[in-house]
Amino acid sequence: MTEHVLTLKHFFEEARAGRLTGIRCGKCGELAIPPKEFCPTCQEYDWTPVPLAGNGAVTSFTVIRIPPRGRAAEAPYAVAVVRLDEGVSLLGRTGLAVRFRPLMTGEQTAVGFGPV
Ligand SMILES: [Zn+2]
Repeated sequence: MTEHVLTLKHFFEEARAGRLTGIRCGKCGELAIPPKEFCPTCQEYDWTPVPLAGNGAVTSFTVIRIPPRGRAAEAPYAVAVVRLDEGVSLLGRTGLAVRFRPLMTGEQTAVGFGPV
């Protein structure tokens, strides 16, 4: 029986310290985050922790207006699906300061916002 290489508790302890950690399957190479029991691709349990840079792009988001119990004071807040540069996506809360940036494609200009 293989030991857990990265538990959810350890994952969040690392996150608290500012480090984002994924896991890579030793059989098929699948990268996953957050930690899970078995590889969704090959069903193997052979994970190795992998430090992730934490850079990516928002691919989807929603605003939570009716929060889970105990979170009423925090609503409304946004949660976003972020696809990391390493190729995995995860859900996270956003609270980032942004600044206006024009988005220009040829002769067309759109209003955009990016991180400060
Ligand atoms: Zn696998």
